[in-house]
Amino acid sequence: MTLWAGMEAGGTKFVCAVASGPDTMLAETRFPTTTPDETISRAIAFLREQRAAHGEIAAVGIASFGPVDPNPASPTFGYITTTPKPGWAHVDLAGPVREALGVPVAFDTDVNGAALAEARWGAARGLDTFVYLTVGTGIGGGAMVNGKLLHGLMHPEMGHVFVPHDRARDPFPGICPYHADCLEGLASGPALEARCGRPADTLPPEHPAWELEADYLAHGLVPQIYILSPQRIILGGGVMDQAHLLPRIRERVLRLLNNYIRQPTLMEDIDGFLVSPGLGNRAGVLGAIALAQEATLG
Ligand code: ADP
Ligand code: ZN
Repeated sequence: MTLWAGMEAGGTKFVCAVASGPDTMLAETRFPTTTPDETISRAIAFLREQRAAHGEIAAVGIASFGPVDPNPASPTFGYITTTPKPGWAHVDLAGPVREALGVPVAFDTDVNGAALAEARWGAARGLDTFVYLTVGTGIGGGAMVNGKLLHGLMHPEMGHVFVPHDRARDPFPGICPYHADCLEGLASGPALEARCGRPADTLPPEHPAWELEADYLAHGLVPQIYILSPQRIILGGGVMDQAHLLPRIRERVLRLLNNYIRQPTLMEDIDGFLVSPGLGNRAGVLGAIALAQEATLG
């Protein structure tokens, strides 16, 4: 039995797991993201314990909050790069894990990892080109294009696109530390909370903030459809737990496309085109496991 380890490195919490497959988790732990030293040491300690208990681990996959350097040829491969999260900019995440365990470490964004897991085991099975977008503490997107996770210059940063911001309708200035009113600055969970003065999960479905939210997210998604030509878009993250939100986004996306893209899989089945994650809130940690598997099995 081959064992893989996964680390879902989030800005709020880390989830570490050891598994022989998506349905065979042998152990899992979660702890808050504190300082890099403390948090990475804790992750390594867990993986060492698991190795002692269950035997050799073939590879570790790390699916991290970003931005990151996912280029194996770069001197800063495996680093978290320009994050505004205090203490975490330019931190080497993959290096210490590789040194401590002496096994291959696969490293990518949390959302690229989630996309890979959804392709193998979730809502994107059978597809080769699709987008996975999370709307939570931040907004981020991963993509698979022609069967491969999208990297290129770095990796996609879908949350930081600009969307039309009508300041008469929405005077809220936005909270992105880099761009103020980019999509993440206007439509992430903390943006909703800052605009409305209460946590997003306490806003009732009829609150006008949700109309605005659906508009912003639809405006963020339509360019992804035009540029990447995805066969499907998966929308995850805490904010999408609002069940009324996805139908509103579908309706607006169709309106914005205005019959220009006439593929039946989109026009006649928008419910099958814009979907929730097949793996629910497990997409993150399973993404890390999938990255580890890919590192050894391809
Ligand atoms: P993270 O992005 O940190 O991985 P989540 O995807 O759970 O975690 O996103 C957390 C954000 O989502 C918070 O801003 C929170 O207010 C918001 N959120 C969580 N649950 C809900 C909900 N049911 N409705 C609206 N917003 C929610
Ligand atoms: Zn931004």
